[in-house]
Amino acid sequence: DDSEGEAEEYLFKVVIIGDSAVGKSNLLSRYARNEFNLHSKATIGVEFQTQSMDIDGKEVKAQIWDTAGQERFRAVTSAYYRGAFGALLVYDISRRSTFDNVGRWLQELNSTYSCYTPLTFFSLCFFSYLDRLLAHSDTTVAKMLVGNKCDLDNIREVPVEEGKALAEAEGLFFMETSALDATNVKTAFEIVIKEIYSNVS
Ligand code: GDP
Ligand code: MG
Repeated sequence: DDSEGEAEEYLFKVVIIGDSAVGKSNLLSRYARNEFNLHSKATIGVEFQTQSMDIDGKEVKAQIWDTAGQERFRAVTSAYYRGAFGALLVYDISRRSTFDNVGRWLQELNSTYSCYTPLTFFSLCFFSYLDRLLAHSDTTVAKMLVGNKCDLDNIREVPVEEGKALAEAEGLFFMETSALDATNVKTAFEIVIKEIYSNVS
């Protein structure tokens, strides 16, 4: 119990990445507010939601970031990834191209320091050094590959086995979800948050 008057509290940043329209924003709204939007507009600006869960009697908060319609490669800035302890990398099981791009998203996630702005060589080095300091780059990032829209099984283009195999090869957790009918959404976020917690505690 917290007889000392101060319960232990954790706050972790988690990012959601993946191609446009794979369902990132709806996964977040399903998890955070139990809402689904059939005609969701592209997110403008960076948006995040904070969700709490209880692990071993401790309050663990996840600050979950949603990309701001910047799903083109190199458009997501390092500030988005900076300090993240967990990531959900989402593709759409009914659109092959979104699965084919998973490798590029992984690369971007793993090397936040690439040239995406016209910085001079000096400032690039400087900021990349700063990033490493701030991001505790030795910390493991808990990553999950998420095949969303599993309700669209009748028009599936990516077999479950392929998703599983890729995740295994890359050392990622794997889950198929549906933001539409809520399948596995809570579970997916909670596995990532629990993994982060076990990485740091
Ligand atoms: P984002 O661009 O990755 O944030 O994708 P959105 O969350 O905006 O979703 C894009 C479109 O896919 C919207 O029309 C959603 O209604 C739809 N969508 C999202 N998740 C699902 C899902 O699990 N199943 C189905 N059938 N449609 C979904
Ligand atoms: Mg979105």
